[in-house]
Amino acid sequence: MKTTQSTAIHAYIDTHKEETFEDYCALLRIPGISALRRYDEHSRRAAQFVYQMMRGAGLEHCEVIETDGLPLVYGDWLHAPGKPTVLLYAHYDVQPVDPVDEWAHDPFEPYIEGDLIYGRGVTDDKLQAVSVLHAIKAFLQTDGTLPVNVRVYYEGEEESGGRSVEKYTREHPEKLQSDIVILADGGLVAPNVPTMCYSCRGILYTEIIAKGAPQDLHSGGFGGNAPNPLFALAEIITGLKDTNGFIHIPGLYEMIAPISDEERLQWQKSAVYADTTFHNLLQADPIGEPDYTPIERAWGRPTLEVHGFIGGFQDEGSKTVIPALARVKVSLRLVPGQDPYQVFELLQNRVRQLTPAGVQTSLQLIDAGMPFLSDPESSAGLGIRRALTNLFASECVITRGGGSIPIATTLQQVLRAETFVVGFGLESDGAHAPNEHTSIATFYKSVHGFANILEELSYV
Ligand SMILES: [Zn+2]
Repeated sequence: MKTTQSTAIHAYIDTHKEETFEDYCALLRIPGISALRRYDEHSRRAAQFVYQMMRGAGLEHCEVIETDGLPLVYGDWLHAPGKPTVLLYAHYDVQPVDPVDEWAHDPFEPYIEGDLIYGRGVTDDKLQAVSVLHAIKAFLQTDGTLPVNVRVYYEGEEESGGRSVEKYTREHPEKLQSDIVILADGGLVAPNVPTMCYSCRGILYTEIIAKGAPQDLHSGGFGGNAPNPLFALAEIITGLKDTNGFIHIPGLYEMIAPISDEERLQWQKSAVYADTTFHNLLQADPIGEPDYTPIERAWGRPTLEVHGFIGGFQDEGSKTVIPALARVKVSLRLVPGQDPYQVFELLQNRVRQLTPAGVQTSLQLIDAGMPFLSDPESSAGLGIRRALTNLFASECVITRGGGSIPIATTLQQVLRAETFVVGFGLESDGAHAPNEHTSIATFYKSVHGFANILEELSYV
């Protein structure tokens, strides 16, 4: 819907490109690498800079919130009675830059070549972090109001576990109270294909420990009589998942709702892009459950993966040891309906069943995260889709994510708000990799995009 206000807002964005871009570059120059403690001072500078941008945008109650780790930055504007409250999340921290030799230019000095801009964080997530604030600024500077109530909530530890934002969110639900959550940390499935993500898989990460004899034994003296924990783990692993990709953990599949025909149909619209990505990276056909397409396996089905075996002799040459102890790292990606803690119990039972004689196994829970699922057909979901469809003049596709975004789940649970992931970068931008880049046009598009979203959400 084009209103006089919206015309004025978009005109404001166009005429203030330069200062918007300056803010983007200034934030890009701050190396807020959250994984490395020696960069903490820079991370704090980045938080301060974000705080200044929030104030500059016209947000109220702006504050840098100290935590046990790196600060959160918050600001709000709550003067739209009767309109929904939208929480916009982004992160100001970035990934480390190594291998630094593979960067063609200084990762913390934005380098421009044609329409491309290179630097750490240009796409993940400073593109969104800056453009959200400038979209808000355009409204507040043009006529002093926003079409919805807004809370802006940024963290600086997304790339290193996000512990502070989790803790703060759980401890301050009333302060963050919102109807709709937008995680401005997503991307497009393909160039110029507007995309809204409404679900992510959860995760259960475990270690299975197998013990045989009380000490390592010689395979000459004891081979044929002693239990071998590495062998036991191999047997357990093959008992957990078969060659068709089916996971043999009783009770696991009963927890999930089947994928509806309507949803399958929607997914097909983005399947072509996802399939290309699978083929490019695998350099082969995807393998997995035969009754499901690659995208259905990635978005709508759980998976069980093995990440590493530890035990016995791992050096060059030979050593004829029967190890006393062996361990294996096993994780499951879980889909909506599956609670990682319940799945952990099912996995424990199954491992016990599969454990051969002479060996004792135990399971350690290393990490657990719930899946999240919002309704893409809800009024908020439809509002965001409309905003993005208008922006690109092309139908917005809806996607789920195969990965896990713990803060999405937490915000959805704690605030009981419809939660969506939105962003404008591309898989090919090289987030987390050397020579991360995006197009400058994408950056401006993102500013207009978030302005569209705020406006559309005022009609829901
Ligand atoms: Zn990110």
